[in-house]
Amino acid sequence: MKKKSFIIALIVLLLILAGCGREKENVPEVPDNTDENAVEANQQDKEEGKSEQEQKEEEGTDEETDPVASIDLSLEPNELGEIMILMYHGIGKEESVWQRNYDNFRSDLQYMYDNKYQMISLNDYAKGEIKTRAGYTPIILTFDDGRQNNFNYIEKNGELVIDPDCAVGILEEFKEKYPDFDVTASFFLNSSAFGQEEYAEKKLNWLVKNGYDVGNHTYSHYELATLTNKEIIVEIGSVNNIIKKSLPDYTVETLALPHGSNPKDEFLQSILQGEYEGNGYKNIAVLDVGWRPDYSPFDILTNFTSLYRVTASEINVDNCGMYDYFRSYENNKRERFISDGNPDVVTIPKRHEKHLNMDMVGDRKINIYE
Ligand SMILES: [Zn+2]
Repeated sequence: MKKKSFIIALIVLLLILAGCGREKENVPEVPDNTDENAVEANQQDKEEGKSEQEQKEEEGTDEETDPVASIDLSLEPNELGEIMILMYHGIGKEESVWQRNYDNFRSDLQYMYDNKYQMISLNDYAKGEIKTRAGYTPIILTFDDGRQNNFNYIEKNGELVIDPDCAVGILEEFKEKYPDFDVTASFFLNSSAFGQEEYAEKKLNWLVKNGYDVGNHTYSHYELATLTNKEIIVEIGSVNNIIKKSLPDYTVETLALPHGSNPKDEFLQSILQGEYEGNGYKNIAVLDVGWRPDYSPFDILTNFTSLYRVTASEINVDNCGMYDYFRSYENNKRERFISDGNPDVVTIPKRHEKHLNMDMVGDRKINIYE
């Protein structure tokens, strides 16, 4: 009997620790006094023979008072600063407007890592679930058109391996080198997923299993403004159904508009929600093509049905390329989102208070400082 209650206490302790975790599993542990205190208190409680209910109540109070106090304001957290959604297309040898050279892509990633950017998924952005480390800025990588050079398999010594120079190969290289980079990306697909038809299902499953996302880029890549409501539903629904065939448990909830072309106002609803051949779809984030960083998900200015993107190129970008914005942040000409390190707290400088979208903040705690 004693053994049993010890096991229950241990499970409760593990659950509590998991709930307090502020970072993804692959991030090295950062010293955190709160968690240590919780462990100590819990051990003490066990020794004093307190009931689980009593323990839970005490921990509840801790959770209510501690998170805000433990935020390091010297890092100048600003969770109403801007977040960039980078728009890549191809990755290859030649550099052009719609293709990034593979070594330039490596330099982009190195720049981000060296300058305290950490990747998050578009889906987490759309839900306001920012798990970025304290003092770091979230950044989102997207790839359009499902090109083979985004995810390419090659044969090496009779074995099928990921091409080290395709987008996924390079992302994996950085994931291994910097486990705390939180490497992830969203791949937006049309009728085919990354060429190599025979490996399509294998690739989709590999992506989701390894922490990437897939999104909808419509079946034929037509400008949606030129289509009827019925045609739009077919364009979105059929891609959704193709992905569902390979990934029955995965929900596609993001859409990148081909050519950044918005449908006519009266058809807007059909890009957000619809049903095609018996399967429903629901998009929580819709992406345009250009030309600037996004606001924080907690900013009243954010429109999740028409999100901006920044072109991940240095050619023909008219001062709107990724490095133009990187420099603006370095020179303090624009303000980037700086995480407080706790996804359950929204920390902002007082000067931005009026921008706070309380619906998005939801149950999270607000921490405003001068
Ligand atoms: Zn496209």
